[in-house]
Amino acid sequence: MTSPSPSCDTRPGKIMLVGIGPGHEAHMTARARSAIQEADTVIGYVTYIKLVADLLDGKEVIRKSMTEELDRAISALDAARQGKKVALISSGDAGVYGMAGPTYEVLFQAGWTPDDPVQVEIVPGTSALNSCAALVGAPLTHDFCAISLSDLLTPWPTIARRLDAVAMADFVVALYNPKSGRRTRQIVEAQRLFLRHRRPDTPVAIVKSAYRRREHIVFTTLDQMAEADIGMLSTVLIGNSNTFVRHGLMVTPRGYANKYDIEQGGETRDGEQRGRSLSTGLLGWLETLQAEHAEGASFEVLAERHRLPLDYIRATLMEPLEAAAPDTLEESEA
Ligand code: SAH
Repeated sequence: MTSPSPSCDTRPGKIMLVGIGPGHEAHMTARARSAIQEADTVIGYVTYIKLVADLLDGKEVIRKSMTEELDRAISALDAARQGKKVALISSGDAGVYGMAGPTYEVLFQAGWTPDDPVQVEIVPGTSALNSCAALVGAPLTHDFCAISLSDLLTPWPTIARRLDAVAMADFVVALYNPKSGRRTRQIVEAQRLFLRHRRPDTPVAIVKSAYRRREHIVFTTLDQMAEADIGMLSTVLIGNSNTFVRHGLMVTPRGYANKYDIEQGGETRDGEQRGRSLSTGLLGWLETLQAEHAEGASFEVLAERHRLPLDYIRATLMEPLEAAAPDTLEESEA
């Protein structure tokens, strides 16, 4: 026997934070689509509402502007408390510079806990860095990070410190919110900070409106990027010191060349073993460090040579080297 379906005012409401991907329906997940279909109320920024227009028949639609994010979260909670299923739409992924954070903040403020009858579901989506990377080649195949240049909610010194740190640490970087009508100098300052650590010819790709009607891609270099056409709908991808552009594709090597001689049919290089850490991996490197120290190199010299903090060098050298446990499983490098 099935229980009768609860009436509209007693059924628990739900908030779904739906990332719709870059904009094209082909790049929206099946769950994002069904979550929107399931919703009674759909709330979002006008542009995103337009992107899912075909799914909105018969639904209450609340269009909000960019600066009304907290309002949007509050509207969602009000509607869910009335038993509605509410889909809050974000472009890309709702947890990447999206509504997931502000929504939880509003919910906590209102005394919500995970045991509340109002359920919350976050529906992951393809973020701009994934879409933009896919369009330009394989720029994110090694360590990368995202930095938003928006100073609407973040002080500039915080943003500048992060730019400086990641530029120095040689991350590939995806810059979100790089420029708007009013915010034009941030990208120039980002360039200035990057040029302190990276070569002027470091590859940069600027992707505007990925997978949308006005999609536009430009390849440029770090020293030229500030002059490029960049807007609110652009993501700027800055390569690391190994990133290259070939045949119109931006590629960051994964590191295979450190271990395998690709020109020699993929033979393992001398001193390297398949499925094991590099000879310059942690244990190999520690052995080198100890040998250099035993030969008279001071902590200071080693810190300088290996470009690592002095106290880190000192601490690792104080710790005795343990023999590596025999590997039982081959680690995947893919
Ligand atoms: N939640 C979104 C990001 C929102 S912040 C995500 O996960 O992608 C808004 C910024 O995202 C824009 O300024 C731009 O830098 C980037 N962005 C969003 N959609 C984009 C698209 N289709 N093409 C290029 N960049 C995009």
